[in-house]
Amino acid sequence: MDYQRIIDGIAREVQPLFVRGRVADYIPALASVPRDKFGMAVLTVDGELYATGDAGEAFSIQSISQVFTLTLALGYVGEKLWRRVGKEPSGSAFNSLVQLEYEKGIPRNPFINAGAHVVTDALMAARPYAKETLLKFVRELSGNPDIAYDEEVARSEAASGFRNRALANFLKAESNLHGDVDTVLDLYFHQCALAMSCIDLARAIAFLARGGRGGDGARVVSAPQAKRINALMQTSGTYDAAGDMAFRIGIPAKSGVGGGIVGIIPGRLALAAWSPALDKTGNSLAGVRALELFTTRTGFSVF
Ligand code: GLN
Repeated sequence: MDYQRIIDGIAREVQPLFVRGRVADYIPALASVPRDKFGMAVLTVDGELYATGDAGEAFSIQSISQVFTLTLALGYVGEKLWRRVGKEPSGSAFNSLVQLEYEKGIPRNPFINAGAHVVTDALMAARPYAKETLLKFVRELSGNPDIAYDEEVARSEAASGFRNRALANFLKAESNLHGDVDTVLDLYFHQCALAMSCIDLARAIAFLARGGRGGDGARVVSAPQAKRINALMQTSGTYDAAGDMAFRIGIPAKSGVGGGIVGIIPGRLALAAWSPALDKTGNSLAGVRALELFTTRTGFSVF
């Protein structure tokens, strides 16, 4: 399969989408990201890398970070984590307040904001230096020691993150956030502000295409855990558009409001795309289309 030709073609084809939608301007530091950026990277389980466009340029990975914090938290806390967070698609916006109150402080899944706060809290309880632990983890997974938190984005989100503050405080009121609210939010805003490129992301996420093994063959998670994380990405990784994404893309995927989206084709490859302009659900317009075109042209799907 000529992956390079396929992704070069996709990069040309998605260009008309750059002018549609909105960048994540509710986070002031992201409002000025140029909307004509596009990158895409594919990493096969054999280690072949294909990249196109701005695939080497770092951007704010936002909610894609939730895959890394969940992986770490499951490693430290184990199955007990599922007492505090569900495994069902939310069917609501990723930052919904009303759903959390209705469900008495148990977030629907780890890939909405409230669920991410609980996972971050659990990780912090297990690892006193969780910020450093997370950074070391993504650096090792991607093989890029230069990955860093974008402090400007983290500050910007802390200054404007009123909904996240409301969610975290509500979790605290329901006794489902054990640590200090501000400390949990500080880690949450930093994980969202991780700056990584499509190439970094494809490498970092590829353990989920390799049944839980890293590029060197060492275990990151067990095979059943990799299967479960993929299942959660499939059902909840793109917020309340997850059904539509299963229909259109047909593989586990996780998006972030920085315009990034990653996808897993188990046993074959990991891929990442980036384009800043978002649809109404917070998913990258061109990023989603790129994954849709990729799975259509290659014929790969988990269904
Ligand atoms: N940092 C963003 C927020 O909390 C992450 C949301 C996302 O990427 N869906 O709103």
